[in-house]
Amino acid sequence: HLDPVLPVTGAETLVPRVGAAPIRYANLDVAASAPALASVAERVAEVLPLYASVHRGAGYLSQVSTALYEASRRTIGDFVGARPDDVTVVTRNTTDSLNLLAGCVPAGPDGLPGRVLVLDLEHHANLLPWQRGSATVLTAAPTVSGTLAALRAELARTPYVLLAVTAASNVTGESLPLADVVKIAHDAGARVVLDGAQLVPHRRVSLARSGADWIAFSGHKTYAPFGAGALVGRRDWLDSGTPYLAGGGAVRQVGLDETRWQSAPARHEAGSPNVIGAVALAAACDALAAVDPAELAEHEAVLRRRLVDGLSAIEGVEVVSLWPDAEDPVGVVTFAVEGHDPGFVAAYLSAEHGIGVRDGRFCAHPLLSRLGLTGGAIRASVGVGTAGEEVERLIRALETFVAQGTQVEYTVVDGCWTV
Ligand code: PMP
Repeated sequence: HLDPVLPVTGAETLVPRVGAAPIRYANLDVAASAPALASVAERVAEVLPLYASVHRGAGYLSQVSTALYEASRRTIGDFVGARPDDVTVVTRNTTDSLNLLAGCVPAGPDGLPGRVLVLDLEHHANLLPWQRGSATVLTAAPTVSGTLAALRAELARTPYVLLAVTAASNVTGESLPLADVVKIAHDAGARVVLDGAQLVPHRRVSLARSGADWIAFSGHKTYAPFGAGALVGRRDWLDSGTPYLAGGGAVRQVGLDETRWQSAPARHEAGSPNVIGAVALAAACDALAAVDPAELAEHEAVLRRRLVDGLSAIEGVEVVSLWPDAEDPVGVVTFAVEGHDPGFVAAYLSAEHGIGVRDGRFCAHPLLSRLGLTGGAIRASVGVGTAGEEVERLIRALETFVAQGTQVEYTVVDGCWTV
């Protein structure tokens, strides 16, 4: 049984069960939102009394807040291997970051809106913003090598300005080899943005090493609370693109007829910034950076292997894979239980075993449809704070459910169980 790599908040939460004593919560839904690290909570408590207006005041606490905010920005950029000329925009989350970049896509060489290429397996956050412009959706092949070949062929066929691709799938945890993807796109003259929401919390990702142009990710999946995320990468599009929000802080000079905008990152950060969110995300980056990446990857790989092996061995349980040849998937495992509604199974796991999993279509409707899972599936996910016992509990609970069902009468309303 593995112990967590880093302490997280909420790990001792006791949850009620139907017909049994309360039990320690098994949070196997960290891919949706990960609990804050204990060190992040401490840092937030430390800086909470200190915040004041950022970039807007001469008072002492305004200076402290401004310094904290800008130092956090540097930490966040460094954590994802930003190059010296890269920009880090503090956003709300991955969705915000990708929408921001979508507003900065320049015209193509033909003067028409720049074309963006995406795969059909993307989270809606990395699909819908591009579809508002000029996007082509390519169906991924069932192997990594086949998908790389399909990308190469499509990029050669049509001129694209950007390839927007997940760094790790939120449905299967699997990734394409990022440096290869970047080379294929760059060779064809397209830039690359990585949806890092699922990879950044679990593996050391580097813009400099991979050559990717931008990466987007979320604080609340990176062991910091809700409220802050980031878009990190090349300056040129961000300096010339339409400011994401119009308002104070994003402007140099406002006249009644003409406004002169700031360059990035201020250009895209109108309004009072979320200094506590940025500090929390930076604290999470610091804590993750201090862990040996091999230790973290091994911890999650052991848990993932146990999940895949344990679940696959249960009759009627099928684990989903996009690319069986993908290397080093992160700890996200999606499965279906034959003959059972995913929402009901998830409610059973919660009500009788104190286990939190995600059910549904994971904001990836086109992929779930392609996989024949239009009714949804169940997703279990692990991270630095996950203990081996939680994974064992899930496997035992599903074995019991499949063998004998449940005798307890409860109903599921809006995804929650009630007796
Ligand atoms: N991309 C991926 C791969 C995700 O898993 C998620 C969150 N489920 C998002 C984007 C969107 O993240 P957020 O809701 O934090 O904007």
